[in-house]
Amino acid sequence: MVEIKSDQAIYSFSPDAQAAATIKPGATATFVTRDCFSNQINSPDQLFESTDWSSINPATGPLAIEEAEPGDVLAVDILDIETAEYGVMTAVKDMGAIPGLLDGSETRIIPIKNGWARFNEILSFPVQPMVGVIGTAPREATVPCGTPGTHGGNMDNKEIIKGTRIYLPVWQRGGLLALGDLHALQGDGEVLFCGIEVAGRVTVRVNVIKELELATPVLENRDYFYIIGSGDDLDEAAKLVMDWTHQFLKTRLPLSNNEVAMLMSIVCDLQICQIVDPLITCRMAIPKKAFSSYQLSFAD
Ligand code: CA
Ligand code: ZN
Repeated sequence: MVEIKSDQAIYSFSPDAQAAATIKPGATATFVTRDCFSNQINSPDQLFESTDWSSINPATGPLAIEEAEPGDVLAVDILDIETAEYGVMTAVKDMGAIPGLLDGSETRIIPIKNGWARFNEILSFPVQPMVGVIGTAPREATVPCGTPGTHGGNMDNKEIIKGTRIYLPVWQRGGLLALGDLHALQGDGEVLFCGIEVAGRVTVRVNVIKELELATPVLENRDYFYIIGSGDDLDEAAKLVMDWTHQFLKTRLPLSNNEVAMLMSIVCDLQICQIVDPLITCRMAIPKKAFSSYQLSFAD
């Protein structure tokens, strides 16, 4: 099986990236990932300010998928996420959504053992490992790994976990899939500006869906589709997500524009992924159960 090592790090999603490895459609691959600080922080003495900023937000890859051509869609099954035995959180003066609430900069090393993250002597939490950064090569502009967009990237969507499938647009031959920035745990909003940042390994299976229009990443789990969108602020992100959700449902269901809009208002949930990256990310949760009479599906 293909394994892409963490030294195959990229710091931006680029239309003309060179593939680190290639697989056939339906094959699996493992990405070994560094944490968002490129594993530079491993002690409470090291503040975020001491890190080399040029190596912040690495992703591992990219992985080319044979037969993937512009206009196709990658269907990426997250088969497994393993994390390292400790994670890192940094409070950073003047960063994040709540800088006024901080005492100043601080680094916490958070031990992770048997599926639990130990926050302090009193508080431990079951981990819910998620993929913060996952995307394909963009259509035109090169996008830093810290920025989300229609190619995916730094969406910090806490629902991207083991057992889910994410659909990503293909704009360049091979798709060029890269991922990283695992969080052992993160809440919606990611308000401090990080989750429990952790190195690890992600195993995926990638299939290619030929010639299907996809404006933005879509996540699927057992119960929901999530339409994901990023904008300059929450209003813009929400507007994009609502437009794309309407389009997604309208093209798949025999319903009028008004009916789709009504259903968006009564059974779909507009949710926040993160409000701390260069663009803000929202998602609309579409419950499959509500549309089961129509057998709503992503493709076919
Ligand atoms: Ca992130
Ligand atoms: Zn992160």
